Amino acid sequence: MPDEKNFESNASRRFLIGVLALLAALILVSGCTPPETIPPPLVPLATLSPPKTIFSEPAARIVPTIRIKLGDDAPEAVVKIHGAFRLADLSTGRTLLAGARMDNGHFTCDQHGLLLLNAQSLPAPRVEILPADDGTVEVFGALYHGRLRVMAVRGQVRLVNAVDLEQYLPSVVGQEMYPSWHLEALKAQAVAARSYALYEMRRGGADPEFDLFATQKSQAYPGMNSETDNSRQAVKETRGVILAFDDGGVERVLPAFYHSTCGGHTFNAADVFPGRPGVDAVRGVACGYCTSAKCYRWQAVVPAETFRREFQADVPGGAAMCPINRAAVRPDDLTADGRVRTVSLWTTPDKSQRWPVPEETFKQLFPPDQKVRSDRFSVSFVAGHLLVSGAGYGHGVGMCQFGAETLAAGGRKAEAILSYYYPAAHLARAY
Ligand SMILES: [Zn+2]
Repeated sequence: MPDEKNFESNASRRFLIGVLALLAALILVSGCTPPETIPPPLVPLATLSPPKTIFSEPAARIVPTIRIKLGDDAPEAVVKIHGAFRLADLSTGRTLLAGARMDNGHFTCDQHGLLLLNAQSLPAPRVEILPADDGTVEVFGALYHGRLRVMAVRGQVRLVNAVDLEQYLPSVVGQEMYPSWHLEALKAQAVAARSYALYEMRRGGADPEFDLFATQKSQAYPGMNSETDNSRQAVKETRGVILAFDDGGVERVLPAFYHSTCGGHTFNAADVFPGRPGVDAVRGVACGYCTSAKCYRWQAVVPAETFRREFQADVPGGAAMCPINRAAVRPDDLTADGRVRTVSLWTTPDKSQRWPVPEETFKQLFPPDQKVRSDRFSVSFVAGHLLVSGAGYGHGVGMCQFGAETLAAGGRKAEAILSYYYPAAHLARAY
């Protein structure tokens, strides 16, 4: 879940208030229409469909091992092992060294692509550290269960945590939702995160060497520090349970995307993640349950000249852009699902030249304290500024986390929450 706790500085808020006052004044004097607002569709609880709790037979009893890349590849990495360990060649399994603990294992690479540990060459480009008795591994100041793979990749050190899927999840649930949220919301999160991890494992999407990133690029996984009693309980009570869907008579793992706040309606996964297997099974649903989220509605503003300078510097061919004098998201700029695909900017002298700016580019050119938080927004040109009014936070696909918490607070079980946001899916037991 994106951190929305401190997304607005006081300075930017004061500035925004000033621009909004100006906008109100402009509306009064010119009669122009305010930016389009998106009414929240409200769905009464009574219309929720009952959960489809079909449990298939366990396919296997063995909990899979998931491989998560920790951080970015870097020239060096420092590893600590709090207990006895063995270090083995990852390719052959042969033990290269063993010890009672590793206080400061300083890994680097040499020019031949081999690893060095504390300046001593290791006879392998890829090794695995196996702590005894689930001793913990410490890297970047964070603790992890499982094993740690250290690899030399193009002269850089890569770290990959190989861990039992059930040991991985409490950290993800504790980070992706507030630990104080209701247990049924945390359980829904655990099932969605388990499904997403398994889906990515089977898809082989990330890399041959790992399945997931440790960031929101996949799922946030900061290690044992984010585990709580509640997140561990949510994982334990849903052990092995995943979301599945019927793919022409074959049961497959659902790509169970989720996000912070949908702002009123979730998107079709096929629109946001085209080409990935199974995305047709995750379709948009109305959600009236995230209205209390800070980012249910939001605004961002930047001086049009600042934006233009960024555009000229960063976008190929952008140097030719003249001063902006109009901005909008037109119907043609939207996908059929209502997502912003492009933003239209018009420039002086005659307002005739339209620059269709791709949505990703448009977002990237806004400063971090004026973040464009979702793909559902309108844009207007007000008193020399680009004013963005939007709804929701995140990619908008699958479970809306703030909506899930509202449903859990209203007494809904995890099964009902999942059934609501993934209506084409059923629960299945993966192991
Ligand atoms: Zn929502």
